[in-house]
Amino acid sequence: MKQFFRSFYGKLSAVFLLLLLVIVISQIYITMQASRQFISEVDQKLNLDLAADMAYELRPLLKDSVDFQRIGERIHYMMVMNPKVEIYLLDEQGEILSFYAEPGKEIVQERVDLKPVEKFLSGNRDIPILGDDPRHRNRQKPFSAAELQIGKDIDGYIYIIIGGEQYDSATAMLRNSYIVQTTIKGLIITLVIAGIAGLILFAFLTKRLRGMTSTVQRFREGDYDQRIDINSEDEVGQLGAAFNQMADTIVSNMEELQQTDKLCRELIANVSHDLRSPLASMQGYLETILMKETSLSDEEKTKYLKIILNNTELLNNLVHGLFELSKLDARQIEPEPEPFPITELTQDVVMKFQQKANEAGVNLVSHLPSNPKLVYADIGMIERALSNLIDNAIHYTPEGGKVEVVVNSKEDVAEIQVADTGQGIASEDLPYIFDRFYRGDKSRTGTTESTGLGLAIAQKIIELHEGKIEVESEIGAGTTFRFDLPYHE
Ligand code: ATP
Ligand code: MG
Repeated sequence: MKQFFRSFYGKLSAVFLLLLLVIVISQIYITMQASRQFISEVDQKLNLDLAADMAYELRPLLKDSVDFQRIGERIHYMMVMNPKVEIYLLDEQGEILSFYAEPGKEIVQERVDLKPVEKFLSGNRDIPILGDDPRHRNRQKPFSAAELQIGKDIDGYIYIIIGGEQYDSATAMLRNSYIVQTTIKGLIITLVIAGIAGLILFAFLTKRLRGMTSTVQRFREGDYDQRIDINSEDEVGQLGAAFNQMADTIVSNMEELQQTDKLCRELIANVSHDLRSPLASMQGYLETILMKETSLSDEEKTKYLKIILNNTELLNNLVHGLFELSKLDARQIEPEPEPFPITELTQDVVMKFQQKANEAGVNLVSHLPSNPKLVYADIGMIERALSNLIDNAIHYTPEGGKVEVVVNSKEDVAEIQVADTGQGIASEDLPYIFDRFYRGDKSRTGTTESTGLGLAIAQKIIELHEGKIEVESEIGAGTTFRFDLPYHE
C-alpha cells in the first residue's frame, strides 16, 4: 500500500479523489445551507400574519388583568393546534413573559433580541428575517411577530418561532428534504463515476510512463537497441523522443569511443613495432662492429655505419612525424592563415625537390597560372602538405617518369594538383593510404625509407583548413592528388 502511494499513479489518484471529495462535501454543505434558507423563507412568507391572527385570539385574555396561568394554557392549546410553531409573549425589552414548553424542552434564553422583531414589524420584507430561538443559544430561526398590549402597562409582543424543532439538525434536514436527498444522491453518483473515470484515465496515462521507465531501465542494463515507441506529440511523447535522441547520441558516442580506443591500440602497436625494427637493426650492426672490431674491413665498417645512420634518420623522421601529428590532432598547433601567392610557394617547393627528382631520373615540372589570386591559408602547413605529396610522387615514380605540379585558378578556389606517371595505387589500397603507418608496399614496412605518416599529416593539414584531399589512381598509369585552397577576399 505504501508502495502504491509512492508511485506517481498512487499520488495522482489520491490527490484527485481527495479533491473530488472536497468538492462533493462543499457542494452538499452549500445545498443544505441553500435549502435551509429556502425553507425558512417559505415558512416565514406563509406565516407572515400568523402572529397577528394569534394576537387577535389572545387579546381578550390580556385586556384588563393578566392571568399568566390562563395565557399559558391558551398558548399550549394553540401549539397543540399548530405543532410547527412555538409561541412566546415578550415585554417591551424582549423579556419572555409567558410560553409553553413540554417537559425536557425548556427554554435557555430569558430574552429575545428585539432588533429582528422591529425589522419584521416595520414592514421590511427582506425575507427571511431570522430571530433568536429561546430554546437554543446562538441559533436563529424564522419567526412571525405582532405587537400586543399586555394588561395596561406593557406594550409587548407575541413572538412565534416557525418550524420549531423540525429543522434543528442537519440529519433531520437530510431525512426530510427530498431536494437535499436527491441532490446528495446525484453528487455521490457523480463522485463515483468521475472517480472511476479519473482512475482509468490516470492508469492509461501512467501506463505510458511505466512503459518508458522499463525501456530506460533495459537501456541502462546494456540493451542499447531499446527505444521508446512514440504515438503522440504531447509532453510524454516529447519526453520519449528526447530519450530516443539521447540514446542515439550515447550509442554513437560509445561507438566513436570504441573506435578511438581501437585506433589508439593499433597506433601504439604500430609505433612500438616501427620503433623496434630500426632499433633492433642498429643494435645488431653496433654489436657486430664491436665484436668484430679488428676483423672488419674499413668498407664493411663504413657500410654498417651508414645503415645505422639511415636507421637513426628513420627514427628521427618517425618521432618527428608522430609528434607533429599528435600536435595537429590535439589542435596544439592551429593554422595561422594569411594571404600569400600559392604559385610562388609551389615554385619554391618544386625547386626544393628538383635535385631529388634528377637523382631519381624523374621529370618534375610545374604549370602555374600567369595572374594568380592570393590564397588564404597557413603557409608553413601548406608547404608541408605539398612537400609530402611531391615527395611521394617522385618516390613512387620509376625512372623516366614525370611528375606535374599544377595550380588551377578556379572561380571560387585555387586547385592544387600533384600528378605522376608512377606505379599507381591498387583500388583496394586507396581507402587506407591516408591512415597513419599505412604503406602500400608491405615489404617496405620497417625499412629505412618509409614511415607511412606523410599522407596522414598532409590530410590532417588540409582538414584543418576545412578542405579535403582527393586521389585518383590507376595501377601502372599513375596517381593524382588534388586539394583546394580558398582565395583571400
Ligand atoms: P613516408 O611519407 O614517411 O616516406 P610513405 O610514403 O610510405 O612514408 P605516405 O606518404 O603516407 O607514407 O603514403 C602511404 C602509402 O601510399 C605509401 O606507402 C604508398 O604505398 C602509397 N602512395 C602514396 N603516394 C603515392 C603515389 N604518388 N603513387 C603510388 N603510391 C603512393
Ligand atoms: Mg610519403
